[in-house]
Amino acid sequence: MLADMTEPFDVVLIGAGIMSATLGSLLRKLEPGLRIAIFERLDRAAAESSDAWNNAGTGHAGYCELNYTPQARDGAVDCAKAIRIAAQFERSLAYWRSLVACGDLPEASSFVRRVPHVSFVWGDADVAFLAARHAKLQESALFSGMELTRDAAQIAEWVPLVMEGRSREVPVAATRMADGTDVNFGALTREMVASLARQPGVDVHLSHEVDGLRRDGASWCVDVRDVATGDERTVRARFVFIGAGGYSLSLLEKSGIPEAEGYGAFPVSGQWLRCTDRAVIARHHAKVYGRAEVGAPPMSVPHLDSRWIDGERELLFGPYAGFTTKFLKKGSWLDLLSSIGVSNVGPVMSAGIENFDLTRYLVGQAMLSVDERISLLRRYYPAAAADDWAVQVAGLRVQIIKRARDGLGELKFGTEVVTSADGSIAALLGASPGASTAVAIMLELLERCFASRWREPAWRSRLEAVLPPPPA
Ligand SMILES: Cc1cc2nc3c(=O)[nH]c(=O)nc-3n(C[C@H](O)[C@H](O)[C@H](O)COP(=O)(O)OP(=O)(O)OC[C@H]3O[C@@H](n4cnc5c(N)ncnc54)[C@H](O)[C@@H]3O)c2cc1C
Repeated sequence: MLADMTEPFDVVLIGAGIMSATLGSLLRKLEPGLRIAIFERLDRAAAESSDAWNNAGTGHAGYCELNYTPQARDGAVDCAKAIRIAAQFERSLAYWRSLVACGDLPEASSFVRRVPHVSFVWGDADVAFLAARHAKLQESALFSGMELTRDAAQIAEWVPLVMEGRSREVPVAATRMADGTDVNFGALTREMVASLARQPGVDVHLSHEVDGLRRDGASWCVDVRDVATGDERTVRARFVFIGAGGYSLSLLEKSGIPEAEGYGAFPVSGQWLRCTDRAVIARHHAKVYGRAEVGAPPMSVPHLDSRWIDGERELLFGPYAGFTTKFLKKGSWLDLLSSIGVSNVGPVMSAGIENFDLTRYLVGQAMLSVDERISLLRRYYPAAAADDWAVQVAGLRVQIIKRARDGLGELKFGTEVVTSADGSIAALLGASPGASTAVAIMLELLERCFASRWREPAWRSRLEAVLPPPPA
């Protein structure tokens, strides 16, 4: 049932994933009197990408993700992205800590656990790369605790499964950051949404889908449908955030703002292998990231991951990326087709042609047999027994296609905040590095959309109270 919604809301948040939850939480800290409505099409918050089984739960801090530190032809390793993401993740941790301290979130162990982050490589070239990466990262204080070893016995101590049954003929190397984290973004998001729902002036409506969106003077009309009853209602809002994950692009297009033109979307599905043997799960305590295969997209870097989900330790390997035409796990097979219109057909088609090899790779991955998946797993866990692993479907990542200056489409693997010129509407497109950097992404959004309030002393001091400024 939709309550009285004749009065305009200050803010409407579409979707109850980690991005909307973070923005709602920050907005209420900055402006406690704001009237906020959250609409979520599913009957549970954080049931799409933000759910623990749908993502890898890595607190991305650049410790182990080798794709954040590309190597130039001359061997030089560029660590700028890893350092930027490490600093952004620190902001997320600091904000979550302050929410725990003020009682908005339960104890931190219910959503974040310390799990060492390990990068593991083999072969002379990759061993040299890892050593160069380690040396370069040591220049930043954020990575001062990072250990490097080329000693197989040491690696076997850190991550026994990785070395069990491995030939000792091939050179190996690993780095370890003991301070790495596993984050249950689903549990975190649901707690943030529950905390918002307890506050007067915040309405959370599950099973309510936003179907339409249009400007009306200084405010937005948002068409909402109760999924259970079919009842439809239009609510008004001064500011709208489209945090609809894979469906953000279609809603952004409905807004009609010129900034939405020229964007397209390219969905990538994911699957894990999930360990079913509790004895094996108990023997691994790390997130072990390797190097992506040649031709593989950056989000399919394989990793053997300790997880904490619903109070239990778990072990996942993957993700295996694949081709799909859906934009959400609980979406429609027609999503890709219906996302293409007059304003983006050029960029989408040209990006499709330009990235034909990627599409072919993803189709190939989607068709892998169980045996082929197990043989990929054995690169990281050579002694893995096939019977101990089952397929688990992951979430979808909808990558951005953006019109470049030449009018052609460019495939991007990051995230992008799109805002209207007047700052009254914003959407988050893209998927990576995602949930870990939600706080930094939403702070950027606030600065852009609430520019004058952002500079006011009241907002500055309220922000500092929940998020002390990072060290200079
Ligand atoms: C396989 C995989 C691995 C990942 N690994 C990591 C990782 O290790 N670390 C990390 O930090 N990030 C990771 N990510 C990325 C991270 O999961 C996402 O960036 C993050 O969850 C996105 O949050 P969101 O709120 O934007 O979207 P979502 O969590 O997808 O939430 C969007 C919500 O909007 C709702 N919605 C959609 N349309 C409507 C509508 N019309 N009306 C109302 N509601 C609507 C949806 O039902 C959904 O609940 C991974 C993602 C995937 C897929």
